[in-house]
Amino acid sequence: MPKIRPKVVKKRKHAAITRIAGRLAKPSPKLLSGSRRVSAEIGEIVRKRAEAEAAIAEARKSHERLREAFDILPQGIVFLDAEGRYILWNKKYAEIYNRSSDLFEPGARLEDTIRVGVERGDYPEAIGREEEWIAERLEKLYHPGDRHEQILGDGRVILIEERLTGDGGVIGLRVDITELKQREASFRLLFDSNPVPMIVCAMDDEHILGVNDAAVEHYGYSRAEFEKLTIRNIQAFESEPPWAGDLSSDELTARTWKHVRADGTLIDLAIYSRHLVYNDQPAVLLALMDITERKRAEARLAFMAQHDGLTGLPNRNLLRQHMDEILLHTRRSAEKVAVLVIGLDNFKAVNDTLGHGIGDKLLRGVAKRLRSTLREEDTLARLNSDEFAIVQSGLARPEDAVILAKRLLEAIADPYLLDGHSVVIGASIGIAMAPGDGDESEKLLKSADMALSRAKNDSRGTFSFFEAGMDARAQSRRKTELDLRDAIQNDVLRPYYQPLICLSSGRITGFEALVRWPDPERGMISPAEFIPVAEETGLINGLGGLMLRRSCMDAALWPDDVRVAVNLSPLQFRTGNLLSIVMDALKQSGLPAKRLELEITETLLLEKSSQVLATLHALRALGVRISMDDFGTGYSSLSYLRSFPFDKIKIDQSFVRDLGSNRDAQAIVRSIISLGKGLGVTITAEGVETEAELSCLRAEGCHEGQGFLFSRARPNVEIIRLLQAQCGADSDGTPEMDSDAALVA
Ligand code: C2E
Ligand code: CA
Ligand code: CA
Repeated sequence: MPKIRPKVVKKRKHAAITRIAGRLAKPSPKLLSGSRRVSAEIGEIVRKRAEAEAAIAEARKSHERLREAFDILPQGIVFLDAEGRYILWNKKYAEIYNRSSDLFEPGARLEDTIRVGVERGDYPEAIGREEEWIAERLEKLYHPGDRHEQILGDGRVILIEERLTGDGGVIGLRVDITELKQREASFRLLFDSNPVPMIVCAMDDEHILGVNDAAVEHYGYSRAEFEKLTIRNIQAFESEPPWAGDLSSDELTARTWKHVRADGTLIDLAIYSRHLVYNDQPAVLLALMDITERKRAEARLAFMAQHDGLTGLPNRNLLRQHMDEILLHTRRSAEKVAVLVIGLDNFKAVNDTLGHGIGDKLLRGVAKRLRSTLREEDTLARLNSDEFAIVQSGLARPEDAVILAKRLLEAIADPYLLDGHSVVIGASIGIAMAPGDGDESEKLLKSADMALSRAKNDSRGTFSFFEAGMDARAQSRRKTELDLRDAIQNDVLRPYYQPLICLSSGRITGFEALVRWPDPERGMISPAEFIPVAEETGLINGLGGLMLRRSCMDAALWPDDVRVAVNLSPLQFRTGNLLSIVMDALKQSGLPAKRLELEITETLLLEKSSQVLATLHALRALGVRISMDDFGTGYSSLSYLRSFPFDKIKIDQSFVRDLGSNRDAQAIVRSIISLGKGLGVTITAEGVETEAELSCLRAEGCHEGQGFLFSRARPNVEIIRLLQAQCGADSDGTPEMDSDAALVA
């Protein structure tokens, strides 16, 4: 501890008092014999002396306390007199300038200690301009104003603050700010060279105080331009700066901010903020994460989740959202909402024949025409591959929907020129109305869907409104599907056989296998009821395979000259393994291929698919016969006869029915028969019910007949008996099997 003058002064005073008091306390023998007055005086002096001693002890103690307090202060403190001489300093001060501590003597001059320090290189700033630096330093001492920083030789930074005292001296404060400076430097480094754009804004006037290089580069404003702006100037929409409104840090980054760059483009940002003191003023540090790309990707994803990639139209999800909003909005008004579901007719055929590229172009073309037929406020969506939906709101009457449906059908029907092909596609429309046919989107779409099925079944190219009964029908269809699945699984389905009669000999040439479904509750269920369901649900493949196997098994036990005809659905050709299913059925049963006939309808050839034709040729190559069923009911029956060499043509029963009454029907039947003869193909007439029809057909030279006049379809046990009867008749010499009433069940 340095020696200090006040302490020395007090010590001396203290010694003198002690000496006097000591002398007074020793009484001479003369006095001892003195008067009482004297002894009283002595007593008084002794008491005073004790008091003085106590006061001195107390003063010393408080001086020590002050001294200790002075020394434990974290700042260095020094008192200089008016001539710049040291009077008093504390421990921290001595520590800060430890190198010059040997010079600290009360009375020593600050200038001298500075000179020694300069010579020793304690002040790197002074190197090379020593005298000048010393002068500046002393100038600051006697004209103290602001604080200043001093760098020491070992790298420490000292903050100096000096003030004049009342007696012309100086009181100086020294704070070691080395650590603070280091922190500041690392902050600067972190700020300046950070790849994340950062901005420091003043809290009060929102001015931009500082920006880092990344911000300059990212925003395109120069540093100077930047520092003229406020945070609001670069915000696109938000009026409040991001630190306003007391958002928590999480809330802040969860929000997206839009900023404007120098070139006017907008960017999306997530902002992290932090309060700090910047150049002595309250400020906010903003770290700006550009999330424009992420936002764009998110928006793209959201768009994709709600739109159809091919046409860009809303998908079912978005449509339902729109619908629910519209329905909510019109609930309390008298306005009606129509939902139109548009199904393209035979779109698959376009895909199969012209390829998916053209199929896609066609769908885009249709979407475009639909859009241009609609009002701005009507919603158009794509539901699935060949179905679109339209929501038409604000209708006064259902007739308004009819007008639109007609316009849409017309718009779709015009030919499309796609890659040099002129493509024509038809459409059917199902319409459901709200309120009435459903008060929420899914129900309405379902109703419109049911109406569409009706439109398609009635005649393609039309529209149909939803009717209350459709719902029940749809449900019963669903029940049929479930029951049919069980029936197939439990092997309940059976083929019944209907004979085909040679019209010249009257003999049975074969039987057509017709599926029968005996149900304990519903009795015998008609194939007309469940074959369409089986085709819709794909169950037809299981059913068809089952019929093939059973029919071949049964027929294998019939006489060698009796054939079996099995019906095939177009869908069985799509799975691709029909050929192997037929081969397996033949192999397992041992039935020769030439005794199997397969009946197909024109719809199979509608698609003109090369795969279908290849399968047909392969089947024929096995020796299997191929028949064209229901001939005359399709669009261009004659052209199909050219596309494949059929073994048999079956005239549809509708022509046979009209034979007696309708001359045209007669003409058609006649020409089909002569056509068949020309092509060398067997002609069979279906649905022969009367003698009149039979004789007419015979007269025209029709080869074969099938119908209730001869027999209904019967179970195999009856067929075996029938065939035995025929054999017996043969041996009896009565070969003709006439319109035998016994044959009719
Ligand atoms: P289809 O192939 O045209 O079969 C002939 C239909 O006409 C049969 O109806 C038969 O019972 C009926 N029929 C026969 N003669 C007469 C007659 O004189 N008058 C009348 N009014 N009808 C007659 P069914 O058995 O109800 O079959 C209906 C349709 O179901 C069949 O028409 C066929 O398209 C389909 N079908 C039946 N079984 C199968 C099968 O195993 N597979 C496939 N894919 N379809 C089948
Ligand atoms: Ca048939
Ligand atoms: Ca038929």
